[in-house]
Amino acid sequence: MAIYVTRSAMPPIEEYMEEIVPVWESRWLTNFGEKHEKLRAELCGYLKVPNLSLFTNGHQALECALEALEIKGEVITTPFTFASTTHAIVRTGSTPVFCDINDSNYTIDVSKIEGLITEKTKAIVPVHVYGNPCNVQAIQAIADKYNLKIIYDAAHAFGIEVDGKGIGSFGDASMFSFHATKVFHTIEGGAVAFRDIDLDKSLNQWKNFGIIDEENVEYIGGNAKMNEFCAAMGLCNLRHIDENIALRKKLVMHYRKQLQDVEGIVLCREQAGIKYNYSYFPILIDEQKYGITRDMLWERLKKQGIVARKYFYPITSDFACYRRFAFGGETPVAKRVAATVLTLPLYPELAIDNVDTICNIIKGEQK
Ligand SMILES: *Cc1c(COP(=O)(O)O)cnc(C)c1O
Repeated sequence: MAIYVTRSAMPPIEEYMEEIVPVWESRWLTNFGEKHEKLRAELCGYLKVPNLSLFTNGHQALECALEALEIKGEVITTPFTFASTTHAIVRTGSTPVFCDINDSNYTIDVSKIEGLITEKTKAIVPVHVYGNPCNVQAIQAIADKYNLKIIYDAAHAFGIEVDGKGIGSFGDASMFSFHATKVFHTIEGGAVAFRDIDLDKSLNQWKNFGIIDEENVEYIGGNAKMNEFCAAMGLCNLRHIDENIALRKKLVMHYRKQLQDVEGIVLCREQAGIKYNYSYFPILIDEQKYGITRDMLWERLKKQGIVARKYFYPITSDFACYRRFAFGGETPVAKRVAATVLTLPLYPELAIDNVDTICNIIKGEQK
């Protein structure tokens, strides 16, 4: 049987059945129901964030955050991310300006941000890629100096803490994704954590057609509300999250032990003071030292039933849909990382033996 890069965590089915009984009885299926409100409160506590708003998915959450913060102009961001980050900026009427990433944890290279700022710059949208926290202090200092907003793409960063603070407590807002493939999921879902409580009302309007009340509509908003069945799934999954992250951690430690001394395999550096969520296990393949390319290793793993992912490749600025735009910014590090990265299978149910098998194939391919 093939081993895929991820496998959704599921709570025991009895737990979910029990959770949805009151939904069945009340017929309140969506629009800020009881499960929605309960999940919102519990997540606020777990994520250690001051305020939280739930959404139908992470992408809509990000678009609504950009709308609610009234970001229209140039937005500094990185192209080493999922399509969603760049799409959200463009779809809400702004222009992405691509900043390169650093090569130690693949987040935005803070030394390159200031050189990209113009009088049109309104915000920075950095990505906590693979759950590696951006340099939040340096980014805040730049934002303060130039009066810019910060909206983090924290889709990978559920539960991460920096010096005991929730990752979603930094910047003006942070988007979390609760997609089925993420560390914590609500089947589909997402959230915006935010600093200023005044944003609560506008986020609620942006996710609900811009409606204020029965007779008043303020914004040209879409529909992005989380329903009760998804919220119920979230309540169940939240009970098992710590246990799932602990299982992931064990697997990551094992991967690291097996691969740390393999010539030509580059692992992500871990930083001090961070509580990680072990959401992904990316490796870079240095062809010169390893002997074969990333694509060849991907192919060989696949032949043996191991489905790794070139995540993220290509960088978003190379997508066909962006070719006709002449967005600024050369990003050589992002290009190189995207061309050499492979994320290996990682999910709570993965067996240690499977990790050994995968590592042995990787070691066997070495020249
Ligand atoms: C998953 C993801 C998103 C989008 O989240 P959805 O819940 O799938 O809409 C955005 N950015 C990144 C980096 C992601 O991995």
